[in-house]
Amino acid sequence: LTGGPGERSETGGPPDEVRGRTALRFGPRTLTYGELAGAAGALAARIAGAGRVAVWATPELETAVAVTGALLAGVAAVPLNPKSGEKELAHILSDSAPSLVLAAPGAELPPVLGELPRTDVDASAAGPVPAERAADGDPALVVYTSGTTGPPKGAVLPRRALATTLDALADAWRWTGDDVLVHGLPLFHVHGLVLGVLGPLRRGGSVRHLGRFSPEGVVRELNDGATMMFGVPTMYHRLAEALPDDPELAKALGRARLLVSGSAALPVHDHERIAAATGRRVIERYGMTETLMNTSVRADGEARAGTVGVPLPGVRLRLVEEDGTEITAYDGETVGEIQVRGPNLFTEYLNRPDATAAAFTADGFFRTGDMAVREPDGYVRIVGRKATDLIKSGGYKIGAGEIENALLEHPGVREAAVTGEPDADLGERIVAWIVPADPQGPPSAGELADHVARRLAPHKRPRVVRYLEALPRNDMGKIMKRALADA
Ligand code: ATP
Ligand code: MG
Repeated sequence: LTGGPGERSETGGPPDEVRGRTALRFGPRTLTYGELAGAAGALAARIAGAGRVAVWATPELETAVAVTGALLAGVAAVPLNPKSGEKELAHILSDSAPSLVLAAPGAELPPVLGELPRTDVDASAAGPVPAERAADGDPALVVYTSGTTGPPKGAVLPRRALATTLDALADAWRWTGDDVLVHGLPLFHVHGLVLGVLGPLRRGGSVRHLGRFSPEGVVRELNDGATMMFGVPTMYHRLAEALPDDPELAKALGRARLLVSGSAALPVHDHERIAAATGRRVIERYGMTETLMNTSVRADGEARAGTVGVPLPGVRLRLVEEDGTEITAYDGETVGEIQVRGPNLFTEYLNRPDATAAAFTADGFFRTGDMAVREPDGYVRIVGRKATDLIKSGGYKIGAGEIENALLEHPGVREAAVTGEPDADLGERIVAWIVPADPQGPPSAGELADHVARRLAPHKRPRVVRYLEALPRNDMGKIMKRALADA
């Protein structure tokens, strides 16, 4: 259904043996594979020949039908975040210039969408699946990056990249037609859309979307046959916090075949608490809009806290030091930038030839801007982003992540972010931004500095501690470090 060769029945659409199986469930509404093929096929006929279509990506059945229909029509889809501000939406619309917007019938569209023609998605329509229209290298999606480090850029993802990444995950995580995913993520980034909706469909499994994530929803679905959950670290944090008082949650998570985290680093403290309470280790995967998935751990492999596993099949991943040398002897300490090459990559940033050119090396590797080390056995340990997470202090290069992990182990700390600030003596000084567990009695700066110095090394202790009520996060729960100073 999502475009692989040899996967269709004689008449087009999904093979007969899966037609009657449930593909999608959003709240009380479900679609079988046959129904999804019918609705997507009918939509494909209506939008055939459109240049690019925007999708008003509410967490509803219609969003999944819209994207599947666009894939069948060979039309590139641009998912829009319904919670975006006017300014961001205006930027995305003028940048991507869609010819129409697909939306659920009841969805209210903001004025910024202006005159853009609207096509309502009919999830109960039934049309034939069109013959294959698009080639491997044609754009399937234009997904805007999360905007963590600057204004979002539109990454053009070819059909090949989607198929490759999903097949790599299907193999690594042993997806089958019996897998049922509990889904609580938004549908306008690659995590929720490509992995969360198209992923399970790749092998005939099914997706149950919670609408809005809650530990209760996770328990309900896992007790009712769901086999896996994909989430972001803030979700696992909520589960870790709820576990001590909720034996039902521990039992349900213990039943899951796969618990996967991505989009940001999963704090070691949360990983360990979940493992201790449930007997299950969360698998981390590392990816990004531009490359889709780069690394993970096999379903039967060892999920190691603080690491994101090893490169997925087909992905060439290398670590390159500042002077351009590739790190070949993995010692768990030498930090380099992660660069990747493979069929999983995007083709370009829309309308940004400058940014596209700057993002690739002469030999075709994408510069991720993420810094990492590799353990002697090849496991990748992400240190953080070059732009915000690597602090050069007193002649040392220090990763913000390990200090954040150490701070989070302090019982008085609920959330932590670490940054560097210019310092006359040290070059940069380490600053810790803390959300205390108890705002009435937060741990002192001296206590936190000692706590870190004891666990890591004296030069890694924060020199300044600032207390906040909450960390600035985006809709994926990622900490917006460039907004910390304003917070
Ligand atoms: P922008 O590129 O607009 O600044 P962004 O990089 O946050 O935003 P995404 O493409 O959604 O946009 O996120 C990819 C980034 O998320 C990666 O480059 C990496 O920094 C981070 N990331 C993803 N998975 C992990 C992980 N498991 N551990 C640590 N970091 C991760
Ligand atoms: Mg990025």
